[in-house]
Amino acid sequence: MKCSECENKAIIEIENRAFCKEHFVKRFEETALKTIEEFNLFNKGEKIGVANSGGKDSLSLLYFLAKYFDKDKIISITIDEGIPGYRDKTIEIMKKYTEKIGVNYYIFSYKDLFGESLSNLVKKNKIKIPCEVCGSFRRYALNYAAKKLNLDKLATAHNLDDESESIVMNLIQKDIQRFVRIGPNVGIEENEMFVPRIKPFMFLHEKETMLYAIINGIYALHEPCPYTRFGIRHEVSEWIKRLEDYYPGSKKNIVNNAIKLKNKFNFESKKLSKCKICGFPSSGEICEVCNYRIAYGLLTK
Ligand code: SF4
Ligand SMILES: [Zn+2]
Ligand SMILES: [Zn+2]
Repeated sequence: MKCSECENKAIIEIENRAFCKEHFVKRFEETALKTIEEFNLFNKGEKIGVANSGGKDSLSLLYFLAKYFDKDKIISITIDEGIPGYRDKTIEIMKKYTEKIGVNYYIFSYKDLFGESLSNLVKKNKIKIPCEVCGSFRRYALNYAAKKLNLDKLATAHNLDDESESIVMNLIQKDIQRFVRIGPNVGIEENEMFVPRIKPFMFLHEKETMLYAIINGIYALHEPCPYTRFGIRHEVSEWIKRLEDYYPGSKKNIVNNAIKLKNKFNFESKKLSKCKICGFPSSGEICEVCNYRIAYGLLTK
């Protein structure tokens, strides 16, 4: 297969077009730069945190931002849940590449923030679905870290696959109100205690971030977290991938139409108050994380 832009051999096919290495990198970086510009994701001089798990997506994002913007304004943040045999390996990878890219990094652990590692918490409390508590703790920890480091924006490496999956998941089993979280910039006007999230890779396919990582010498761990469960999200993900194979452009259509819906219906964020224990934004008197901490004996009421 030949590149759609030149005579060279193509290495990837995206939405009915083929690209050689050079034209793929050009398309990739231009797409991310256009997303940043069109949605005004950040301004010159702003301090940007990158949520860095040590995986291919977040390392690609860090590499890309450091290549095009002021490295001194970029900070890498890693959350250490405390999952032996998994997170310790990804942290080693994160350190290796983040140092190579030349960006400063910070690690925040559940143990320090909440008083216990995830694996101990799961063992002691016989937690059946660790991802629920882990997801909640991670969102909290990232926001805590971003506030602590005085960041203006927090960039995550969500791609077109992640975003289209979330949209379909929200339609199937969650609340359509969660459409407020759709789009490349989230939480800009939500609450001063929240550091806004931005997603520069939101219009790039997962296979593109994977290839971009390989081209730039980033090799991530292939083992999944031991607590990963193949639930409904996995089914949705497989379905969307098949749909994209048969009807290229489907993922982009899902995302673009969901953004239109979000804008048309002007979904409002829930009104939040302050958690009376930790002071972080909460829809109830006590936030979700403090409720978990009370339930698991990490806090007394
Ligand atoms: S797979 Fe679940 S438990 Fe593992 S890091 Fe992700 S959210 Fe946490
Ligand atoms: Zn080409
Ligand atoms: Zn709280």
